Amino acid sequence: MSSLDWLSEALDGLTQEGLRRERRVGSGLPAGAIDFGSNDYLGIAGDPRLALAAAEASKKGPWGAGASPVVSGRSSLHDELERRLAAFERAEAAIVFPSGFAANAGVVPALVDEGDVVYADAKNHASLIDGCRLTRAERRVYPHNDVAVLEMMLKRDSGQSRRRLIVTDGLFSMDGDFAPLAELGELAERHDAMLLVDEAHATGVWGPHGRGSIEHAAVQSPRLPGQVAVHVGTLSKALGSAGGFVSGSGALIDWLYNRARPYVFSTASPPAVAAASIAALEIVQAEPERREAVHRNAALLRELLHAAGWSTGASVSQIVPIHAGEAEVALALSSQLAERGFYVPAIRPPSVPVGESLLRVSVSARHSAEDLRRLVEALGSPRKTE
Ligand SMILES: *Cc1c(COP(=O)(O)O)cnc(C)c1O
Repeated sequence: MSSLDWLSEALDGLTQEGLRRERRVGSGLPAGAIDFGSNDYLGIAGDPRLALAAAEASKKGPWGAGASPVVSGRSSLHDELERRLAAFERAEAAIVFPSGFAANAGVVPALVDEGDVVYADAKNHASLIDGCRLTRAERRVYPHNDVAVLEMMLKRDSGQSRRRLIVTDGLFSMDGDFAPLAELGELAERHDAMLLVDEAHATGVWGPHGRGSIEHAAVQSPRLPGQVAVHVGTLSKALGSAGGFVSGSGALIDWLYNRARPYVFSTASPPAVAAASIAALEIVQAEPERREAVHRNAALLRELLHAAGWSTGASVSQIVPIHAGEAEVALALSSQLAERGFYVPAIRPPSVPVGESLLRVSVSARHSAEDLRRLVEALGSPRKTE
């Protein structure tokens, strides 16, 4: 008898529902399999310039930061990375967290508290959901991308709260569609709310300079960047490194330095990681052809999938969902692809709602047109349901 006996039953429950995940190394597939699961969209994670920058940095100082950034853990490399991120995002300042998850878990409760209201898109990433759960503010969830419902909520609550915050992914991590940022910017301005956009999947990939979905949308709506008060980004995906960041006004960043709990109460990431992130940011800025390659690949993949009869839903980006329905169907398709040497993860509840399981293809600049053609060939056509 142990106090944890209940766990084996709980795990059996997951197995029966087709939701059990087995711990594995990497994708679990043999070396040589083509990886469509990684968010290394620009193919930077394996670039030797990152490893070299980290090696150089670790020769000059200790590997570990040793303490919270507010104690003694904020190295000159963290300082330099933050200044470069601010310049890249054209913001007054930026602050680097150990992960994007930590950034979201920290920033939302730092901005709203008792007496405030936070409005969240129903399809926001788990880290934003948890950030919202950690605040004592009232929480309202609006249907995915539904600005009409959001506006109704904002009007109804008008004058009843101290501060208001709208939080949304810029590019949604499962559907690969964008938030209606121009409308959200207008709404935030009109209803005196702060707007937070999480650029995790868009940093480095979208916008003429790779600043993200805000820069992409600003081509049509030039006032948008000024309407987004809080910009969250990640260094862990397209930048191929690790960490999250927030950019914005100097006052915002000073406030987060003082009040974002995952920042204040967590050891700073190793300085060498900041050095690798600086190298990654330089690559993003110097090699726009990586962005062009990922967009070209994503468009080709969607075209090939549609020709084979598959639905990719609302995707307009390098995140291409293939809709499967039940978790078992998604798992079967994923294993079928694995046998043919392709890693494509099946996304099941709780990452997506029950009955909306899918295969999530992450397209990268690393993939060749031939990789994409072979993937769609291996997938075959959807089974007809009678
Ligand atoms: C991955 C992700 C994060 C977390 O970023 P990490 O740096 O991997 O912790 C935050 N928001 C969204 C939308 C994400 O997809």
